[in-house]
Parts: sequence; structure tokens; C-alpha cells
Amino acid sequence: MVSSPTMAERSSAGPAANSELTCAECGAIPIPGEIERAVEARIADLKARGGDCSRYATVLESSYRSGQITLRPYMWRTGSHLTSGEGKPNGDMMLAREIDSLNVGVRTVDDVVWTMEHEAAHIAFDLASGNEANEQKTDQTVRACKS
Ligand SMILES: [Zn+2]
Repeated sequence: MVSSPTMAERSSAGPAANSELTCAECGAIPIPGEIERAVEARIADLKARGGDCSRYATVLESSYRSGQITLRPYMWRTGSHLTSGEGKPNGDMMLAREIDSLNVGVRTVDDVVWTMEHEAAHIAFDLASGNEANEQKTDQTVRACKS
């Protein structure tokens, strides 16, 4: 997905203050145990598969273990699009847990892990996001490592 400087600046946001000016929906949230377990399982599975799967698993694992994955409560707006994930070449990732505060539609644990793998594949194979061909290739890679 597309990178946005304002997102990076927020990654160090602390606990929400009791101020109306605080955007409670923008801050990072702790990664729930169910997602941690799912990611751990996927990393092990991807490595066992080898090839492309283990190549992007290495990126995913490195981002995950070094605390570069930030989870936000909801999807955020990038220009005219809603974004569920964003990765940077250095391994930083920002992911959305839910779609929005009204819970119109639900992002399952699998959806979140999919986004994580998608961003890891972008980084691992140097596929710039935002162009349709690269997005398809990225999704194809992740799909091939799931079946
Ligand atoms: Zn993408």
C-alpha cells in the first residue's frame, strides 16, 4: 500500500489521554494473543514450505520479532482509499485490526495475518505497492503459500 508520513509519526503515540483532541481511533493497540499465535504458526508453516514462502517469511519474522509491526484499531484513509496495511522497505508495517468503529464488516484474525503476509511479500520481492500488477503478483505469492 501507499506510505504516508503522518502514519510513521504516529507510530510512537503513547496511551490515549483524556482529551477530546486525542484521536482514540488513531493510536496503536497491543497485538492480541490470538493474532500473535496465528502469526507464529504462519511463520513456521511458511518456512517449512521453503522457496518464495520462506523468503517472505524471513521478512515477516524479522518485522514481527523486532517490534516493527504496529496494529491500529481501524483502517485509515490514504487519499481516497481506505488502507488496511502499509509496509516500508525497512520492514516497518502498519496494519488495521478492524474495518471501522461501527464494525461494518469484520476483519478476522486470518484477514489481519493475510495483510501482514501481503506487506511482507511487497518488501521481500521489492514489489512497489499501488500499482495493480504488483498488487496482483503480491496476492498471488501469498495465495500460493496458503493452499
Ligand atoms: Zn499491496
